[in-house]
Amino acid sequence: MVKADAYGLGVREVAPTLAAAGCGTFFVATVDEGVALRELLGADPSIAVLHGVADRREAEEVRRSGLLPVLNSLGQIAAWSALARGAGQPLPCVLHLDTGMNRLGLGAGEVQTLGLDQSLLAGCDVRLVMSHLACAEESANTMNRRQLVTFLKRSAALPSAPQSLANSAGIFLGEAFTLDLVRPGIALYGGNPVPSAVNPMAQPVHLQGRIVQVRRVDASDTVGYGAAFSVSAPSRIATVAAGYADGYLRSLSGRGVAVVAGTRVPIVGRVSMDLITLDVTSVPEAAIQPGVSVSLIGGGVSLDEVAAAAGTIPYEILTSLGRRYRREHRPDVPKLSPEDLEAIGSRN
Ligand SMILES: *Cc1c(COP(=O)(O)O)cnc(C)c1O
Repeated sequence: MVKADAYGLGVREVAPTLAAAGCGTFFVATVDEGVALRELLGADPSIAVLHGVADRREAEEVRRSGLLPVLNSLGQIAAWSALARGAGQPLPCVLHLDTGMNRLGLGAGEVQTLGLDQSLLAGCDVRLVMSHLACAEESANTMNRRQLVTFLKRSAALPSAPQSLANSAGIFLGEAFTLDLVRPGIALYGGNPVPSAVNPMAQPVHLQGRIVQVRRVDASDTVGYGAAFSVSAPSRIATVAAGYADGYLRSLSGRGVAVVAGTRVPIVGRVSMDLITLDVTSVPEAAIQPGVSVSLIGGGVSLDEVAAAAGTIPYEILTSLGRRYRREHRPDVPKLSPEDLEAIGSRN
């Protein structure tokens, strides 16, 4: 799953790395994402467009780039079928069945209609039938199995094709859910697909900010906008160059943590547009100087932890990451650092 610029991490680097690792099927959300990905990856991999095709023009664009539209309604199927008739040859596509999410996909009635009149699918070369789980992160939720059963039952009425149900969390629900193809997204990028247990995934994202200034503050001082943080004893504050304009969410004000010189330190005061302030009183003075880097995600602060502190999910943290960072992509996935292992351990 490489929609939304590979969850904000850079599809230009992420997709070729996945292809080189053996991934042969990619999913994006929009036609534009699909066209760009085809240019990037060349002719070989399958590229499916989750939103399907809105009209004839998009259908033609999808065909020109050799993309698989994920057809979500009888209207989309009719448009694709008409294009195939015009082309005088079957055209490959994916069918999406809604099994309870009620967001995208063919409803029960539409699947029944297709089952009764398969000529509606004339010219549709169905390469995959898929559905999407609403509650996969809750392994005990009975909706998961209900959706699986509904999916298997309904797809039996359609042309036989490989089946796909599981996103990252779905993969961890057990083998019954993996079927022929899985669609992992967040797990590839370090999010925890089993939030009730230790995150089994490596942490490929390391976000660092640089200290711009260090200052001493007295017991009567306050820090930052709104004087929101009052100092209770003489302290040292490090000001770091990252803010909400960089996707370091403002909701992390007074809640986030960073790691500097191996020590976890709190974000104090408000996150501003370009800067955050850390209380580094507990870190030896020699280690805290302008120019020193601090870890904001990774290096002892897990992505899951940042998301929880911000009151959101890892997906939003990653897709919010700003454009101002200097981005370095390393083809080798880093092993868990001792700090990461410790952070994981401390949460369990
Ligand atoms: C985004 C998406 C996924 C991937 O979900 P993750 O939770 O990131 O693994 C899979 N399937 C569909 C239909 C999606 O929209």
